[in-house]
Amino acid sequence: MTEHSNGGRTAIVIGGGLAGMLAVTALLGQADTVTVIERDRYPAGHGFRKGVPQARHLHILLSGGSLALEELLPGTLAALGEAGARSLYLPRDLLTRTATGWQRRFDERRHRTLSVTRPVLDAVVRERVLRAAAASATRVEVLEATEATGLTGDASRVTGVRVRSRGGAPGARSERELVAGLVVDASGRGSRTPQWFAELGRSAPHEETVDAGIAYATRMYRPKDPATAPDAGVNVPGWPECPRGAAYVPVEDGKWLLTLSGVRGHHPPTDPAEFTAFSATIGDPYVHELLAEAEPLSPVHGFRDTCNRRRHFERPGALPAGLLVLGDAACTFNPVYGQGMSVAALGALAVRGTLANGGGQRPRSTAEAQRAVARAVEPAWLAAVGADRPYASPDDAKAGVAERLSTWYIDRLFARAAIDPVVGAAFRDVFCLTAPPTRLVAPQIFLRTVFLPRLPGLPGPPAAVEEV
Ligand SMILES: Cc1cc2nc3c(=O)[nH]c(=O)nc-3n(C[C@H](O)[C@H](O)[C@H](O)COP(=O)(O)OP(=O)(O)OC[C@H]3O[C@@H](n4cnc5c(N)ncnc54)[C@H](O)[C@@H]3O)c2cc1C
Repeated sequence: MTEHSNGGRTAIVIGGGLAGMLAVTALLGQADTVTVIERDRYPAGHGFRKGVPQARHLHILLSGGSLALEELLPGTLAALGEAGARSLYLPRDLLTRTATGWQRRFDERRHRTLSVTRPVLDAVVRERVLRAAAASATRVEVLEATEATGLTGDASRVTGVRVRSRGGAPGARSERELVAGLVVDASGRGSRTPQWFAELGRSAPHEETVDAGIAYATRMYRPKDPATAPDAGVNVPGWPECPRGAAYVPVEDGKWLLTLSGVRGHHPPTDPAEFTAFSATIGDPYVHELLAEAEPLSPVHGFRDTCNRRRHFERPGALPAGLLVLGDAACTFNPVYGQGMSVAALGALAVRGTLANGGGQRPRSTAEAQRAVARAVEPAWLAAVGADRPYASPDDAKAGVAERLSTWYIDRLFARAAIDPVVGAAFRDVFCLTAPPTRLVAPQIFLRTVFLPRLPGLPGPPAAVEEV
């Protein structure tokens, strides 16, 4: 771990959300103390909290993220299962309708995704991180109801964090400084690190955005008769001619989450009656029909800031010494692709790998760790911005020739994947973040994608599971 004369082997993690907790895991055994600064107080049990407003919406943990999570924190997938997380094998357990029709339901069992509400996922991960910390040589302290208000140091090095307690007596709310050898920003999509750079006399990192202008609206349901509830989740993601989508998936305790989405001009409403009516306007009536068999358990919650936004802290000179940026603070994705949590886990794994000071080698630099995080982000970023390009706003970063070609190719591959087990397997490997994008241009996949005809998918949601 990078050392600093004042901070020694101490680390501060800003944000005790998913990426922050996974950052703690990556630092266990590599720092003497880790202090987590979390603005919220954690709720008792599995409650929602203000600092993670997206938690009310459907969250799928892709297989790539599940594997990374398990590698970081062995036993977590079993603990999530015990807490009620549902395993959905793709494509068997998630019926998917795209522009060309319904996907065939191959019993492939290569990609086990997890479906559970965020409060449950976050609580299980937090509990396991703190348990792993208690068994390690690293002392971990979590300062709840404490907000990071700035970075200390200068333009070349971050030496700590300015914090302020929230609540309590007015005197207790004054700012103080905490010193550390390493600061990790894991404060999520609202990260203020670019502004804090200005206070240190640095320029903000280069930022790239591709915004499909997607809005989400989500409601929780329970099937009226569990015996007749569907045996799979349903995903109708929307396409250029019908840019409205729906995903309806089981979560813990027999509950289901329905998220409706739409690009600019097609935003789903949050009024309950209008929400139900909107579900009838997506590309297929199946989800709307299922709602007649379910009772709502919650109001409708909306969410609008869904831009793909990447801050290039990994570029030469973009990062002061002593700082690392992880999770949504570095890169956010259009949530339709379900990648953010997985990328946070893959990023933490990359950090653990590069910060390790094993084998008598010199301590690795944070710039090197940040480059490893960027490599973990890259496949998900390419997939998300490639798929969102048709909806991008004129202000967004322009697509290069390579990206335009890949958008054309992905569109063909996507259609083929719905009916072809070979192309479908490659597609899922890459979109579930278990294989690099090069898997999509392997000779067999390339030939099938480019030369085999673009056939329609199935006409209706498949009941039958197909062996492969
Ligand atoms: C609508 C929606 C749906 C999504 N669906 C999926 C999905 O299906 N699958 C998936 O993988 N991803 C999904 N995502 C992405 C996922 O929510 C994020 O990628 C993930 O939460 C990132 O974790 P994080 O820890 O970086 O940020 P967060 O989970 O947002 O946590 C940030 C933490 O930092 C704290 N904090 C913030 N500022 C400060 C401060 N100044 N001082 C102290 N603490 C601070 C907050 O209180 C919070 O605890 C979705 C996102 C959205 C918006």
